[in-house]
Amino acid sequence: MTNIFEAAASGDLDYIKNQPQATLKSRNDRGWTVLHFAARYGQLDIATYLRDNHGELLTVVNGDGKTPAQLAQFWGYDQVAQLLSPPQQEQQQSKEQLSSLSKQVNHVNFFAGSPLNRYGWYRTEQDHLNRLMHATNARFLLFSKLDPLFDKNDKKTGLYWADVEKIKAASLEGALVFLGIDERFVSDKEGDAKEGIPYWALDITVNEKDNNMTLVQLHQDLEKEGLEFSSPLPLGFQLDRESAAILAQARAMVDWHTRNKFCPACGNPVKIKEAGYKMTCSSNETSQCISHNGIHNFAYPRTDAVVIVCIVHPTADKILLGRQKRWPARMFSCIAGFVEPGESIEEAVRREALEETGIHVDHVAYHSTQPWPFPNSLMFGFIASATNEQVKMEDKELESARWFSRSDVLGALKGDGIFTLPPKLAIAHQLILTWATSTQPAKM
Ligand code: ZN
Ligand code: MG
Repeated sequence: MTNIFEAAASGDLDYIKNQPQATLKSRNDRGWTVLHFAARYGQLDIATYLRDNHGELLTVVNGDGKTPAQLAQFWGYDQVAQLLSPPQQEQQQSKEQLSSLSKQVNHVNFFAGSPLNRYGWYRTEQDHLNRLMHATNARFLLFSKLDPLFDKNDKKTGLYWADVEKIKAASLEGALVFLGIDERFVSDKEGDAKEGIPYWALDITVNEKDNNMTLVQLHQDLEKEGLEFSSPLPLGFQLDRESAAILAQARAMVDWHTRNKFCPACGNPVKIKEAGYKMTCSSNETSQCISHNGIHNFAYPRTDAVVIVCIVHPTADKILLGRQKRWPARMFSCIAGFVEPGESIEEAVRREALEETGIHVDHVAYHSTQPWPFPNSLMFGFIASATNEQVKMEDKELESARWFSRSDVLGALKGDGIFTLPPKLAIAHQLILTWATSTQPAKM
């Protein structure tokens, strides 16, 4: 026996026309209406008939938060999608608003914007690497147990840059990574690298088992000078932006070396190549190690993609923010989470929003990204639009999630609101700031 949903899906217009009003309004267990089915299967005649006679179905969202027009769009039935979409003028306007939100940014976040040219083509040139390492203008950022060396004598609380003389005593067992060259400071001085100032990261952690005495001595000497290995946060937030970007690169690379000493497939030690940017299994090519097969024979520094999103209410005058239990009291921020294998970053945005808050997101607009080297994330920032408003914390990752009005948010940005936000240097703050200060309401 046919039902109205099957009739709509298969294009049986006569059947649909003969149904009573009330039946045409019914929904199935996934919240789909008869118009959703017509849209999903590209049935233009039925979509036209329902639009003209049952206009109220146009705005109904199904259990996945999709209108019939969005379903048609998704499945590639452009004609049906156009037929069921809101009037052209309104659509045009919201697209413009969205692109103006993205355009006004082109934003460089803290920890990005490094002044270094990475000179990737030198990484395989041992002669160049030796020269840049022994150059008298070379600078080394030292790490111990993943903490960079700060110079607290410096009022600005800057990083300490060692020269090659200083680290000569170190036996260089720890990670040594070529970071790049600051070409703004070219030099023709004897012994200097002529390209500019070479930057390196060097891990001088003392391995407690072999207790290398030259390293221990180096640590003592540095300490005597008032230098200190400290956690990169919060001190890193006080650095100038360029130093912070160099620190971000160095910290992520040293962390990668610290956590990856053995081949993940067979457990043999890894060999470091290309100035610290590549590792390969040290086992014999004829061994059973799978890393010698195919193109997976090397390991490269890992970057974990994280999405972070400022979700705008369907009425465009509020945004959704959440808080985790361990955060400072009253602090709220954007929804965030790791991208999983086999999903696009915009799908990750929709999944995280749904898991953490029960909110369905449709349009996802890119804002900017922020490297977050703790240890190796890259935050992809978005502003996106919600299609429903009922908050439901499905995965219990958040302690609370709620809508905040524009005036609440402006208050928090000024620091005198009913809640607080992450610091300016965090991308979450920048996403929220962009939404709150956009001249038009960000209706998408
Ligand atoms: Zn191996
Ligand atoms: Mg999550």
